[in-house]
Amino acid sequence: MKIKSKLRLGIGFLFAMIILLSLVAAVFVNLLKNDTKNVLADNYKTLEYGRNMLLALDEMPGKPAAWKNFEAYLKQQSGNITEPGEAFATKKVADQYAALKTDPGNAFRYKVIKKEISELMRINMAAIQQKSNMALQTVQVAYTWIAITGTICVLLALTLLINLPGTIANPIGELTRSIREIAAKNYSQRVHFNSQDEFGELAGSFNTMAEKLEEYNNSNLSRILIEKKRIEALIGNMHEPVIGLDENKTILFANGEAAKIIGIALQDMTGKSAIDLSKHNDLMRSLISNLGTDGAESIPELSPLKICADNKESFFEKEIVDITITPTGEKKKLFIGQVIILKNITPFKELDAAKTNFIATVSHELKTPIASVKMSLQLLENAVTGPLNEQQKQLVESIKEDGDRLLKITGELLNLSQVETGNIQLNITQTNVKDIVDYALNAVKISAEQKQIRLCVDKEENLPAIKADTEKTAWVLINFLTNAIRYTQQEGMIKVSVRDHNERVQFSVTDEGKGIDSKYRTKVFERYFQVPGSQKTGTGLGLAISKEFIEAQGGTIGVETEIGMGSTFFFDLVKA
Ligand code: ADP
Repeated sequence: MKIKSKLRLGIGFLFAMIILLSLVAAVFVNLLKNDTKNVLADNYKTLEYGRNMLLALDEMPGKPAAWKNFEAYLKQQSGNITEPGEAFATKKVADQYAALKTDPGNAFRYKVIKKEISELMRINMAAIQQKSNMALQTVQVAYTWIAITGTICVLLALTLLINLPGTIANPIGELTRSIREIAAKNYSQRVHFNSQDEFGELAGSFNTMAEKLEEYNNSNLSRILIEKKRIEALIGNMHEPVIGLDENKTILFANGEAAKIIGIALQDMTGKSAIDLSKHNDLMRSLISNLGTDGAESIPELSPLKICADNKESFFEKEIVDITITPTGEKKKLFIGQVIILKNITPFKELDAAKTNFIATVSHELKTPIASVKMSLQLLENAVTGPLNEQQKQLVESIKEDGDRLLKITGELLNLSQVETGNIQLNITQTNVKDIVDYALNAVKISAEQKQIRLCVDKEENLPAIKADTEKTAWVLINFLTNAIRYTQQEGMIKVSVRDHNERVQFSVTDEGKGIDSKYRTKVFERYFQVPGSQKTGTGLGLAISKEFIEAQGGTIGVETEIGMGSTFFFDLVKA
């Protein structure tokens, strides 16, 4: 039965019982009232008339008014006949009174009338007695009925009082507990109300909901598991070694390639701390050497890693990807780990080496014929082979210029191939700064004069000696000066400064040229790079070789420049 119907029935029945109780009480009170009223009306008045008639009889012999009174009371009595036998007794009184009237001196008559009146009173007193008994009986019945209906009411009220709160509150309590369990992701929670009421329906709906949530949760879990397996398969099939770490540097995943080059079995790696493994594994140590800690960004590795695996030397470029997430509902990013990807660059390295070798061979092979061309030109200039006319002289001059350029290019290419193969032969000695500066100024003097450019030297007195390869350092300074002359206007000025700078000596060349866009400031030191839109007369190798030369000597190189404001190229070297 529905709760609504149960409540209606229970409270309705209680209500009906209260009405019944009130009706029973009212009926019995009414009955009692009627009984009392009848006694008064029917019998008490007769007793009154009887008593008054007896008093009148006593006064009759001497008082004529007593006759009148007697007759009046007798008449009233005749109109108040209520009990069986009362009419007969009244008639007897009336008969005897009529006889007394005809014979007023008869004392016997008085006695008979008194006796008849007494009989009349007795009949009424008996009636009073009987009616009193009847009233008592009514009271008894009233008691019984009121007690029965009252008890039913009390029992009903008690039943409702005891059962009703529980019937409603218990299922609500169980439902609340179950909802809390579901909220705590315990989707196997069910409610068990077997009743057919609203709570039964509610339990049915709740259980269906919980079942669907459980099904949804399980299907999500299996989908996530499939996705996990897919990602694992993808990583496993990658040809490049991949290692995933959490924020505490614990290895979360790695692929077979990674295990192969590191030399640790996959199952011995996953779940282990990379820091612990790195204590016994050099490669692992270099892999995690520049990882950012506590969310700090990892420092990119510049030089490739040389790894020997399978009796083969391979080169890998290490890429570290810092993984951050933004948790749902939050704004702050959370660092959750890193992925290390090793890119196998061995084929590129091999190609690069082949290219370097080729350049080295070609530039070396070109040097001899160019030198002989230059020598032949010199013979022509000296008129050993006969005098030259003006036109021929001009042609020889232009061939000489091209020859010089070719020699410069082959020299640069040779330098570069030496740098790339790691074969720079440094001849570091204690060198005088003045010698380097003078040598470089001498080398560029003619080209500066051709453009009427002033070369100013700002050199501190008593500069200390430096530890450097004189030839290569001068080469760098010449390269700076050649570039400066190329990008400076006719009649411009170039400043060469040498300063004592902490533990180092800094050389700088400042020009009034067009300057370099800030985005190319580091790129100009890369091989073959030329600023877009600049004169394409060079090879784009000069500054790259300069950087290699200076860094090989333990120095630093750089440029301060702004577009339209000229440039200052500088390098510093350690004091001797
Ligand atoms: P290149 O042989 O082409 O001069 P460099 O490596 O010496 O090669 O220079 C690289 C590029 O840097 C040049 O192509 C040029 O665009 C730019 N550059 C070098 N020096 C200067 C300078 N003093 N002023 C403006 N641009 C310069």
